[in-house]
Formats: sequence, structure tokens, C-alpha cells
Amino acid sequence: MKHISILGSTGSIGVQALDVAEKHNYRVTALTANTDYKKLEEQIRKFKPALAALADEDSAKELKIRVSDTDTKILAGTQGVCECAAATDAEICLNAIVGMAGLRPTLSALNAKKTLALANKESLVAGGNLVKDTAKKNNVPILPVDSEHSAIFQSLLASPSNKGLRKIILTASGGPFFGKSRSELEKVTIQDALKHPNWSMGAKITVDSATMFNKGLELIEACHLFDVTPDKVDIIVHRESILHSAVEFVDGAVIAQLGVPDMRIPIQFALTYPERFESPSESIDFAKLAAMTFYKPDEDTFDCLSICRTAYNMGGLYPTAVNAANEEANRLFREGKIKFLEIGELIRTAFALDCSTKAYTLEEIENTEYAAREKVRVTAGI
Ligand code: NAD
Ligand code: MG
Repeated sequence: MKHISILGSTGSIGVQALDVAEKHNYRVTALTANTDYKKLEEQIRKFKPALAALADEDSAKELKIRVSDTDTKILAGTQGVCECAAATDAEICLNAIVGMAGLRPTLSALNAKKTLALANKESLVAGGNLVKDTAKKNNVPILPVDSEHSAIFQSLLASPSNKGLRKIILTASGGPFFGKSRSELEKVTIQDALKHPNWSMGAKITVDSATMFNKGLELIEACHLFDVTPDKVDIIVHRESILHSAVEFVDGAVIAQLGVPDMRIPIQFALTYPERFESPSESIDFAKLAAMTFYKPDEDTFDCLSICRTAYNMGGLYPTAVNAANEEANRLFREGKIKFLEIGELIRTAFALDCSTKAYTLEEIENTEYAAREKVRVTAGI
């Protein structure tokens, strides 16, 4: 029986991960969330973890009272979440927190020598080499949960020597605004942005999919996870979200992973790797599918993609800065304070910060985050 801890357990990925854990009888040793004490209480009663934490201190106090009849110890704040990532006998920590709030917990899990099943791409993008070096130093793997990166990871298993990779083919659904012009995007609303064609996800990543900043994050994520440069990653829009990504080897062979768009497949593979277990997800009916379509992304309209590529190529803390600027702009859009096209404009303000450093510490990363968020708010006049 595997023991796992799940950070961000009340969210879209977290709930699906608990589904997988229940099906395979995994022991859940820790659960965390931000404020949702009601949902976390239900999860604690069902899964009986040794530890649980809420990042929000007041919500943690409420939770503590509610579950005082259970054996679960309740912790509070980011420190409490980090303890949940590290302080149980779990072999695997699944980080499904949204945003770079997941960075400290990611480092905490790695420093405690837990295998990290990573959904929280922002922590890898913002933490960059610090996260990679921490994994290396502790000799623990980072297993991707993001569907595209899971597909790349699975496709790379076709080359046991780990050699001969020509390029990565990273697929994108194109989101709800595929095919729209900039003038059409002037008028889109938050409700339009939240209507993703294929996936049901948390609000932040759904808006990131609409701007295609999500694909920019995934480009950087792929560069870190698979040790490639952006010029080795072709991004291709695939509207059906059936082919989850692929790799091309030097002999011209292309290996891809396909499946219905169901996050329980990549979540489960990260938890069961290197084994494969039964999953409740459906099979693809190829005859019904009829066609799979592929298009070049429109990077002039969806400029967030090239913002991420530029930031990665500039190096240093530029990826941290654009990620933080996006988190802020994405939030302002969801709160109805800015228009859709202002998101990209505000993210670009991060390039005015001096982020050109070769090595960096957690403190420098968090200072950059703070400066980038501040710059976005000041520029937006909020
Ligand atoms: P979500 O908003 O549904 O859930 C986020 C979780 O993080 C919640 O449990 C919330 O309580 C917790 N959280 C939020 N702020 C926090 C904070 N400051 N400190 C501690 N915990 C906090 O998000 P999601 O859609 O499940 O996405 C989670 C992560 O997985 C994101 O990084 C996203 O990019 C990635 N991801 C999601 C999907 C998907 O299908 N939802 C697919 C691929 C990758
Ligand atoms: Mg993805």
C-alpha cells in the first residue's frame, strides 16, 4: 500500500487525486487546502490523515474545532502546509496547489526526500533551478501530473537509453477563444473565458488556458522537466485534446500518448509509476472520434505564449516575474477589474524589472514575485 500526501486536496486536481487514492486503497497521510474548511472536514472524516493544514489561519482555527473529535492534527499557515508536505511517512507528495503559493511546499517535500507528483507547474516555473537543484541534491524524482508532460514522460519511456530525442511536440487545446481576432477578444467576458471546451479545471488555470499563458507555463515546465531548450519544443493546437503530447526521435519515429481528456489518467500514472493499474476512465472510441485536427498557434493574437518563451530565454528570474505578474493580472481579470486583453499588457510590465541573475535564493524569488505583483497593480491603477 502506497502512502501519499495531497496538497490542494479541495481543488479540481486534489479531488480527482483522492478518487484515484480511494480506488487503489492508498493511505492518505496528509491533506491541505487554503480556506475551504467544510470540504477539508469531509475529506478528513473519510480519509483519516495524520495531518491536515489550511493556509488561511482563521479557517484553520475553525477546522480545528470542527474535527476535534478525530485523530487528525490540524496545522495552519504556509508553514503548516509545508509540514504536511514533509512530516508524514508518505513516499509521494502530490502538489496540486494553484499558483506559486505551492513553491515552499514543493521545496519542503523535496527536502524531505518525497517523490514529488507535480501538478503545481507554477512552483517549477517560478522556482526554476532552485527546485531542480533541490530535487537533484535530495535524489528524488519529479513526476509530471500535467497531462501534456505526463504524455511526454510516457512517450520518452520508448527510449530506454534516454537518447536520441529530436523534439517535443507539446499540444494545446487552444482554449475557448481559438480562432478569435484581437478585436473580437476586446469584448470577451470572464464567463466566456471560463467556458473551456474540453477540461473542467480551477478558475485560474481556465483563464490561463484562454490567454494561452498556460501553454507558456507548460513550455517552461517542459524545458525544466526534460532538459531541453524552447527551440526543441513545437507547440501545436489540437482542438480535441485526445493526443496529449508527443516526442520525435532522431530516426523520425514519433511516439505519442493518447486518451480521453480525463485528468485521473495522468494523476494516477504519477502515483502508480512505474506500474499501470485499472482506471475508471473511458476508452477512446476512434470510429466516433472521426478526426483529429492540428493547427499552428496564433502567437500574435495570443501573445502570452511568446511572453513566456522570451522570459525563459532571458533567463534569471524573468520566468518568476512573468509568472507572478500573470497571477496578479489573472486575478484582476477574474475580479472584473481589468479587460481580457489587459492581462498580456500587464504581464509585460514584468520585463521592466531587473531579473538578470544567474543563481538565486528563495528570498530573491519571493522578492521578485512581490515586485512583479506590485508593478501590475500600480500599472493597472489598483
Ligand atoms: P483549484 O483552484 O481547483 O484548486 C487549488 C487548490 O489549491 C485548492 O485546494 C486550494 O484550497 C489550494 N490553494 C489555493 N491557494 C492556496 C494557498 N495560498 N496556499 C495553499 N493552498 C492553496 O486548482 P486546480 O485546477 O486543481 O489546479 C491546481 C494546480 O494543478 C495548478 O497549478 C494547475 O495549473 C495545475 N493543473 C490543473 C489541471 C486541472 O485539470 N485542473 C490540469 C493540469 C495542471
Ligand atoms: Mg496541461
